[in-house]
Amino acid sequence: MTDRRNDLTAWDRNHFFHPSTAMGAHARGESPARTIASGEGVYITDTAGRRSLDAFGGLYCVNVGYGRQKIADAIAEQARSLAYYHAYAGHSTEASITLARMIIERAPANMSRVYFGLSGSDANETNIKLIWFYNNILGRPEKKKIISRWRGYHGSGIMTGSLTGLEAFQKNFDLPRSPILHTEAPYYFRRADRSMSEEAFSAHCAEKLEDLILAEGADTIAAFVGEPILGTGGIVPPPQGYWRAIQAVLRKYDILLVADEVITGFGRLGTMFGSDHYGIEPDLITIAKGLTSAYAPLSGSIVSEKMWNVLVEGSDRLGPIGHGWTYSAHPICAAAGIANLELIDELALVDNVRVTGAWFRAALDQALGDHIHVGDVRGEGLMAAVELVEDRDDRRFFDPARKVGPAVVAAMLEQGVIARAMPQGDIIGFAPPLCLSREEADQIVAATLHAIRQVLG
Ligand code: PLP
Repeated sequence: MTDRRNDLTAWDRNHFFHPSTAMGAHARGESPARTIASGEGVYITDTAGRRSLDAFGGLYCVNVGYGRQKIADAIAEQARSLAYYHAYAGHSTEASITLARMIIERAPANMSRVYFGLSGSDANETNIKLIWFYNNILGRPEKKKIISRWRGYHGSGIMTGSLTGLEAFQKNFDLPRSPILHTEAPYYFRRADRSMSEEAFSAHCAEKLEDLILAEGADTIAAFVGEPILGTGGIVPPPQGYWRAIQAVLRKYDILLVADEVITGFGRLGTMFGSDHYGIEPDLITIAKGLTSAYAPLSGSIVSEKMWNVLVEGSDRLGPIGHGWTYSAHPICAAAGIANLELIDELALVDNVRVTGAWFRAALDQALGDHIHVGDVRGEGLMAAVELVEDRDDRRFFDPARKVGPAVVAAMLEQGVIARAMPQGDIIGFAPPLCLSREEADQIVAATLHAIRQVLG
């Protein structure tokens, strides 16, 4: 076994190009690496036999938890009966049709159809194309610009990496590309004017958006893309009244709204969709992660009735839509999605998010809220973050070179708990599987407190 592990380590260093990894340090063996062997519930175990509580659910995606036999069986059964058929020219499989129906049944009001992809990134690429097609069909060829927020995360393709408002995903890649624009992040804790109330800050964000629209010309702005709660940009719930204020501006200028629910879709906030949670009425919804709990790669663009009718008019005029992936609606992934959505209902996981999420966030707040280096404890449902600061009274942040966030996360790992050091700040992020128990929540909180004390005193 030891020899095998040594082989794997060498092959990993020599042949595997990892995403979001310091390439040289990994290849030279200078940074920690870990090979995961199995998972059960909220725990994963690596090839060295070390078990960790995964308080980030992989990448906020293993929502039903690891090791669910029901999903494994559904995948195996589908692979045996029909591993693949495409979805072009009206073809489908029983699994893909069933899953589309299940998604629309669970989606917010006025949603009509699901276009299936494989990743959150490709689903957002699809959304951009659908938005451009829509405005071409409506005879508005100038209405093409898309606005997202700084600190939004929407993928790392060329257009979706442009939508993403985080430095590491853009710098040195010649991104963002036209016609993507960015507006202010609804990040209340980091607001410039600290005297602002949440409502006032929401109004300020809406004003900034309106200023941008007017500066560019409203008839050039096609859509606004946002996550119901900022995810990778810091796990930041919107301030009071934010979505109401933003939607009023979008309606005024006939601008489409894309709710990127890749993280929030299927229960993470204690409602089936984040749009339900915040009263968002989107024209398109992006889904991925929680759709299959990452047992198989599957994403989707949920298209509203309003957009669908225009797309159909376009197709009637122009022929089949020139957009498709070989693996769209892959039956194995669809079978995983069906079993996953059934499990979410059978295990009442959305209810558990409400109850255990509230418990978890209250426990975090109680344990850490008064620590001199904790500036903010925030979250919603089973998403939470602890933001660390050098000085909480004048909200002074640590020098990024000190890498305080990564040090805390590393210290947590030593205690058997995985959290994520979020980019652009010393922010400890949590998004555990939705089946988390109170005992497991307490274990995460204890590890966080211990690690912060260990690193910062
Ligand atoms: N949108 C959001 C909100 C995400 O959090 C992510 C990934 O974290 C994506 C899109 C991109 O998804 P993927 O990594 O599957 O391409």
